[in-house]
Amino acid sequence: MKILYRGPLSSCNYACHYCPFAKAKESRESLKRDQQALLRFIDWVRGQTVEPIGILFTPWGEALIRRWYQKAIIDLSLMAHVKKVAIQTNLSCRLDWLERCDKSKVALWTTFHPSQVNRVRFLGQCQALDQQGIAYSVGMVCLKEHFNDIALLRRELRPEVYLWINAYQTDYYTQTERDYFKSIDPLFNAIPHQSKGRRCQTGETVVTIDGDGDVRRCHFVKELIGNIYSGDMTLKPRLCPNQICDCHIGYVHLNDLGLDEVFGEGILERQLKMTN
Ligand code: SF4
Repeated sequence: MKILYRGPLSSCNYACHYCPFAKAKESRESLKRDQQALLRFIDWVRGQTVEPIGILFTPWGEALIRRWYQKAIIDLSLMAHVKKVAIQTNLSCRLDWLERCDKSKVALWTTFHPSQVNRVRFLGQCQALDQQGIAYSVGMVCLKEHFNDIALLRRELRPEVYLWINAYQTDYYTQTERDYFKSIDPLFNAIPHQSKGRRCQTGETVVTIDGDGDVRRCHFVKELIGNIYSGDMTLKPRLCPNQICDCHIGYVHLNDLGLDEVFGEGILERQLKMTN
């Protein structure tokens, strides 16, 4: 089973202008609630030994600067039945704690934010991951003012590291720009998938779990399909009820796109199979 976990955390140390969590701060109580929810989730995972589990943390904001997420990744990676633990991160945190993980199971979905961090500093963090033997992908939200950064980043990253590009808006790019981005990221897609009525693995082999343990098929369909702490969860083949799916963490599970084959073992951290 693959789990996307998103607790109540909703704060970030960066200030990207397009993000609702830019520089958002949280009270001590609010951070404590997030920590307790995460500890409870880890305890639940510890007790689920029947089938292999892969976990992707998809926090609102930046979680990896919090020591309880670092500890969670260490602890989860050391559980025999956890096959992969990945997290979306801006890679601004220290990396020394990764040495305490089972590094063969940890992977980072990193995003470069050129308005917030110097490219040399970001690449230095990537090189540190290389030296530590931690798998990762790198991506960017593609704003016009950052086109040059994409070209430079592609040149400077190891060729094996997948550089994914997220579209900012559907009608934002010229055809020439789209073609250029596809030459860097063959999966670049500025047009949302028309997903309604199509089979999607979410709700069957992939679920989303929040800090209260409530289970939904994905982050984009609000209907509850169970709660891990009350012990009920209905997993079965399902069709997508939404008109469109425009987020990678969702449409990557659409059956007919075949992206599970394209990404293979790297599907949680968004790393292409040819390079993982
Ligand atoms: S296609 Fe997207 S919105 Fe539809 S069920 Fe799958 S993940 Fe959710």
